Amino acid sequence: MGKPTGFLEYQRQGDPAQAPLERIGHYDEFHPRLGREDRRRQGARCMECGVPFCQSGAVLGGMVSGCPLHNLIPEWNDLVYTGNFGHALERLMKTNNFPEFTGRVCPALCEAACTCGLHGDPVTIKENELGIIEDAWERGLVAPCPPKTRTGKQVAVVGSGPAGLACADQLSKRGHAVTVFEREDRPGGLLMYGIPNMKLEKRIVQRRLDLMAAQGVEFVTGTDVGREKEAQELLDGFDAVVLCCGASNPRDLKVKNRDVNGVYFAVDFLKETTRSLLDSGLAPGTFPSAKGKDVVIVGGGDTGNDCVGTCIRHGCKSVVQLEMMPKAPDQRAERNPWPEWPKVCKTDYGQEEAIAVFGHDPRIYQTTLTELIGDGKGNIKAVKTVRLHPDLSPVEGSEQTLECGLLLIAAGFLGAQSYVAEAFGVELTPRAAVHTQAGDYATGVPKIFTAGDMHRGQSLVVWAIWEGRQAARAVDTYLMGYTNLE
Ligand SMILES: Cc1cc2nc3c(=O)[nH]c(=O)nc-3n(C[C@H](O)[C@H](O)[C@H](O)COP(=O)(O)OP(=O)(O)OC[C@H]3O[C@@H](n4cnc5c(N)ncnc54)[C@H](O)[C@@H]3O)c2cc1C
Ligand code: SF4
Repeated sequence: MGKPTGFLEYQRQGDPAQAPLERIGHYDEFHPRLGREDRRRQGARCMECGVPFCQSGAVLGGMVSGCPLHNLIPEWNDLVYTGNFGHALERLMKTNNFPEFTGRVCPALCEAACTCGLHGDPVTIKENELGIIEDAWERGLVAPCPPKTRTGKQVAVVGSGPAGLACADQLSKRGHAVTVFEREDRPGGLLMYGIPNMKLEKRIVQRRLDLMAAQGVEFVTGTDVGREKEAQELLDGFDAVVLCCGASNPRDLKVKNRDVNGVYFAVDFLKETTRSLLDSGLAPGTFPSAKGKDVVIVGGGDTGNDCVGTCIRHGCKSVVQLEMMPKAPDQRAERNPWPEWPKVCKTDYGQEEAIAVFGHDPRIYQTTLTELIGDGKGNIKAVKTVRLHPDLSPVEGSEQTLECGLLLIAAGFLGAQSYVAEAFGVELTPRAAVHTQAGDYATGVPKIFTAGDMHRGQSLVVWAIWEGRQAARAVDTYLMGYTNLE
């Protein structure tokens, strides 16, 4: 039992954030972490509930609430409170291969379901998780731990996002020889080339990749496994193949003049910024720049927010984010009670920065694009917009023209790219995810398994880790006849 009166004595204290006008001057993370004593007090706020909704990962009201990984949250909160950070690490690593990623980028489904949040502020679960793992890295507790015995089985993982990495990590710890194939020049999937550096510094991703390599996982980059020949080579050379290629097929705009220059999919724009940051420190001409431009972003979600923060760091002249749906309420609606996931309006870091720089929220709700306007030389100059009724029909006479030198499309994803599925002969669902039986990870083709966004559709890092771990169990059972992986 933790500190019985902790939640009464101590207020929630989050990791501090550098002020928006300061942090836009760099691309680094901007949340310095609390010191050990403050962290212990945050651990003490946990009520050690008999039924901890925070670790349930249960579907409530049609959405998952609580941690999908079933992280043993009250246990490690108590160990944080008592100062036993090393033991807390052991309990944390039991369910989560990469707490340094979720501790930075997870939307914290756990905190939405925390009992302290029913009448006050939830426990800082996500930051406690990050505190435990970063304390461990600093003290050298996270070290390569190769398996004592090898099984002689070989597994190929295609795709090195969090799903592929979690699967590879589990299978490698079990003693199988794992090779991860990645088409990009660096492994990490969207952890490396999607989520911006200010949310997840790439040295943090590289640190984990280096550890996995030291443990025996082999990474082969610059290899696009996409033709039947390559697929057959993997099937011939490995005992099992796991497809973890993500759901990177972007939803496009069907508007007049779509082919003008200066229009990018959000992920391509973010990827090229990160690649240039890592390769050349953002040398001019090495990435599509928003500097001095009026930027319009289609999509009011999290990816759009990452684009806002990135464009502001590039030095854009203005930025707006168009969202088709109405603004969500600021507080939970009555029909959306605790511990359901709260369907409320969140103002994220990029939007905070836009408010600080331009004096207003960049989001324009119930609005979409109807046409792109060129400058006569093939480049985008402006966009036409229209307001939408709640049923998404256009409001007559509401058309407007916005200046636009850069248009970013962050309108979601339409599932996996089909060429990989075709090369391996696996079946896709109508939503372009690889088909398996419910709750299973084996495809209809012998030896081939799947996990992550490619399996469940565009989702979250925490779900990708869960899927990677579950797929590893399925592969291990297939190879050994049983599994002792969790
Ligand atoms: C811009 C952006 C920001 C996001 N921010 C967050 C966030 O803050 N928090 C959060 O929880 N989630 C976030 N997400 C979602 C999250 O990143 C994904 O759900 C998660 O990365 C999915 O993991 P994955 O391993 O299934 O696929 P991915 O991370 O997409 O990795 C798939 C990998 O497979 C590789 N690949 C594909 N085809 C082949 C092939 N034929 N051969 C070899 N390699 C191949 C790709 O290059 C890629 O590296 C974000 C997504 C985007 C787009
Ligand atoms: S992985 Fe996400 S939901 Fe689970 S404990 Fe960490 S922050 Fe919470």
